[in-house]
Amino acid sequence: MSDSLAPESPTVRAFDATVTRVDGRSVTLDETYFYPEGGGQPADRGVLGGVDIEHVRTDADGAVVHDLAADPDFGVGDEVTGVVDDDLRTYCMRAHTASHVLYGAGRRIFDDLGYGGFDISAEKVRVDFETSTEIDDDALVELERLVNRAVWDSREVSWEEIPVAEAREREEIAFNVKTEEGVFADADEVRVVSIDGWDWAACGGTHVSNTVEIGPVEVLGRSNPGEGLTRVEFAVGPSAIDRRAEVRTSAYEAARALGTNLDGLGESAAGTAAAREELESELADLKSEVLRARLADFETVERDGLTWNVGAVSGFDANEVGEAAKEARDGADVDVFVAVGESDAPFVVVASAGDAAAGDVVAEVTDEFGGGGGGGPTFAQGGGLGAPAGEVLAYLRD
Ligand SMILES: [Zn+2]
Repeated sequence: MSDSLAPESPTVRAFDATVTRVDGRSVTLDETYFYPEGGGQPADRGVLGGVDIEHVRTDADGAVVHDLAADPDFGVGDEVTGVVDDDLRTYCMRAHTASHVLYGAGRRIFDDLGYGGFDISAEKVRVDFETSTEIDDDALVELERLVNRAVWDSREVSWEEIPVAEAREREEIAFNVKTEEGVFADADEVRVVSIDGWDWAACGGTHVSNTVEIGPVEVLGRSNPGEGLTRVEFAVGPSAIDRRAEVRTSAYEAARALGTNLDGLGESAAGTAAAREELESELADLKSEVLRARLADFETVERDGLTWNVGAVSGFDANEVGEAAKEARDGADVDVFVAVGESDAPFVVVASAGDAAAGDVVAEVTDEFGGGGGGGPTFAQGGGLGAPAGEVLAYLRD
């Protein structure tokens, strides 16, 4: 049994080792440079003794187990060559170190900071922050700026095993309580990864030796995973470059549409939104004025000894017409006010002073023309009528 040598020597890509156990397609070696899945970092891929590796994991006894894609043609005692997949490992080293740089940036702008976890996937990396600071848009921009600045500054990254007690006493060292707790339980020492003058974390992953190796970092966004944490997601490498191009394309599109440039975009968009709000409010006022005028022109008919105002409107929905009908009923000397309208399907709105129940009028109309609806004595409405407004109106006039 041995720990992976990958965290200590992350640049090794090929090595020879002796097979100590073979169980079907699961192989254990006397030493290995493959990284087993753990601590938020995915397992290495690669080739062992000429056979593809599907997964690398740590078993219950703490041994690193290589699960192969096919039965091996080697056995216990044989010497085999392992080749670590360079693309995936290099990506993980850069992404993993970037997460430490991001946490280091958080140290500079967040209050009451704690480390809540981390995970690498092929497309993005996430870091969970525990902080009393609200991580808003400005904070995301500042995080990204600080991270890329730390990359440019080419800070040295180093790692060493130190006694757990000593690590616990050094307040600057970030611990992921959830994933590291198990490590402390059966180990006297812990690996501390330091980014010169920037960040210190207890971590068993693989890292680059200088921040400049990380390359461009693009913050993607934030979310709330619960437990009082704020999750920040970011991309490194090709997906960061692609994302940056997408964001830039959107910004140029928006600037073009608003007739401005990138620097004037925020102000121009805010001005446009305010102008639109004002226009919407003016439009709503004008529409209700038009609606009131239409309703005032409704024909007056005598029906069962009561005065009815009936008419048709188009271009307004049932709710708008309903509100206007109530207003018209209250403001005019009329017993029943009936408006037939057409939006998606013909509808009828009835506002009554009470002598003829509005609900009864709607029931009469829907009995005759189909559709449904209802209401009380003073107000009711029906929709989905199976006849055009003109026909319903003619019926009501008789
Ligand atoms: Zn790490």
